[in-house]
Amino acid sequence: MRQLPETDRDAIRLAQDPQFPRWLEQVTATGGCAHPVHLSGSTTTLDGTTGEILHHYDTRTEPGERLLVRCRNRRATICPACSRLHAGDTYHLVRAGLLGGKNIPATVRHRPRLFVTLTAPSFGPVHRTGELCRPRRDGGRCEHGRPLGCGVVHAPDDATVGQPLCVDCYDYTGHVLWHSHAFKLWDRFAIDVRRRLASSVGLVQSHFAQHARLSFARVAEYQKRAAVHVHAIIRLDGPDGPDTEPPTRATTDHLTDAVSTAAGRVLVRTPYSPAVGELTLAWGTQLDIRPLRANGDGPDDDAVAAYVAKYVTKGASETGAGTDHPLTTRHEIETAPVSTHVRTLIRTCWRLGGLPEYAHLRLRAWAHTLGYRGHILTKSRAYSTTYAALRAERAHHLGHTGTPDTITERHWRYVGSGHTPGGALIAAGIAEDLARNREAAREALSTGGDVS
Ligand SMILES: [Zn+2]
Ligand SMILES: [Zn+2]
Ligand SMILES: [Zn+2]
Repeated sequence: MRQLPETDRDAIRLAQDPQFPRWLEQVTATGGCAHPVHLSGSTTTLDGTTGEILHHYDTRTEPGERLLVRCRNRRATICPACSRLHAGDTYHLVRAGLLGGKNIPATVRHRPRLFVTLTAPSFGPVHRTGELCRPRRDGGRCEHGRPLGCGVVHAPDDATVGQPLCVDCYDYTGHVLWHSHAFKLWDRFAIDVRRRLASSVGLVQSHFAQHARLSFARVAEYQKRAAVHVHAIIRLDGPDGPDTEPPTRATTDHLTDAVSTAAGRVLVRTPYSPAVGELTLAWGTQLDIRPLRANGDGPDDDAVAAYVAKYVTKGASETGAGTDHPLTTRHEIETAPVSTHVRTLIRTCWRLGGLPEYAHLRLRAWAHTLGYRGHILTKSRAYSTTYAALRAERAHHLGHTGTPDTITERHWRYVGSGHTPGGALIAAGIAEDLARNREAAREALSTGGDVS
């Protein structure tokens, strides 16, 4: 026993505990969550009329007198189990907005709908994969004496891919400030799409909201150059959202034109800075617009939902563009496991974050995401259901909600989080088993085989 690694000894100690079967049940109920929250307390359900106790649950009889609940982290690097659940919820949330379901009418699939990718502009040439990197016949060097071209064919996993050809020519300030204004740029874009659309279908702009509404869901994805792409589903609804029809004369082509024009012309100006000046920010010229057609002509709605769901589980660290946790000291910045390019972006956030004119951008707090404030799914209120509704639905299936005419009293407090080393090992095994079982069930279904 003494020769065994500490983790194994801890796992054996856990397994020898008389309450181990119940602990295992709890961990399984969290799906093998890697960092469960420990709660202490009780829930009592009373008959609303008679006051009779119908059900009582108390953690006093539980292992360690506590109940483990999911951490709900969306990032796969932090909690594989919860990130899978979150990706599943995202998939259903996005899919409901495309095809209906979860209180969204099936008629949404016949509305004008687009899958749009908006990009950041160029902040300077970077090494790229695929064909010849940056062929230049005349050779030539920048003012820093570095080659302006690159004649190499880089493999996709080549560490130089996404790195600037010249770090001194690269506009790090522009890159970071663009990230920090991306939300504003999106808002201006959405306003302009409505304007374009109103004028192309002959509506007075101020009357647009009385006839139609734009619903959207979007995710940000970091490219190799560590600049974000925005993938968005844009749907045209009637004035009250998914339950109402938009004007019949507003077609997918009108929406496409409006998106294309708006993406090309909206601008955001940064506040004046004595050190930086005033920058004018716009979307990149690369723009991809795919109409989602109900007749199956174009990308499949399920594929789009799966594509979006995949991005929400990725943390900044997994894509190599930043870290999962905020950076609070210069030392943390210098030792973070990131590329030179990303470190320079982080340093730029830190430096600009110290300027009073940029204080509202909170660039130091968001240095770990390179100035971009969060990159989870963002959706308009009317797009589809919510994460909270999906969780409530799941709780209902598990019988965790009360029935009418009952009163539920809950008394809970936080008493800790995480697992011991041995517990973490067992939880990870459970999470893997559950994922494998789900995979097998899916395969059996798709091949028409027997799930059992
Ligand atoms: Zn978790
Ligand atoms: Zn190159
Ligand atoms: Zn240069």
